[in-house]
Amino acid sequence: MVESLYVAVRLVMLTDALQLITILVMSGVRKEIIKMTGKEYVELAMRTNDGNATGRIEKAIELLHRPDKPKCFKPVVEDLGGVLNGCLGLAGEAGETLDMIKKWIFHEKDLDREHLKKELGDVMWYMAMICYSFGFDLDEILQMNIDKLKARYPEGFDTERELIIERREIFNGGDR
Ligand SMILES: [Mg+2]
Repeated sequence: MVESLYVAVRLVMLTDALQLITILVMSGVRKEIIKMTGKEYVELAMRTNDGNATGRIEKAIELLHRPDKPKCFKPVVEDLGGVLNGCLGLAGEAGETLDMIKKWIFHEKDLDREHLKKELGDVMWYMAMICYSFGFDLDEILQMNIDKLKARYPEGFDTERELIIERREIFNGGDR
């Protein structure tokens, strides 16, 4: 009888100990997830940043001005600063355009059509800058786009055909 009681007490103690260990481990895991600070996040994220972004810009500028510039800068990048300014600006102006549309739909604000036209003009300005910086002809780009769309949708947009194209591109790892 005493022996059985002893075993029972030991079992209860063991169960309690296991529960306690589980709680401690779980709270430790939770603490790790919940208590990650912004600073820790930056440190973890930046493990995948080699810190050489500025160096690469400098290297690109140097290579660009070499008479024997490498293949990736041929035939020409007329203005690397213009490419960067154009791409950053294009993203910013596209964001401003999207913000107007977001506020119109989700904040139920009136859509200022004149303002929207101005934002689209800003988008075009940066498009022009990228074209100019690469030495591209905007006429050619517009025509290429129309030709691509004609080949893709000879009868106009078609959701079924779109699905087939998407699947094919996913399968081929392609981009649009
Ligand atoms: Mg703008």
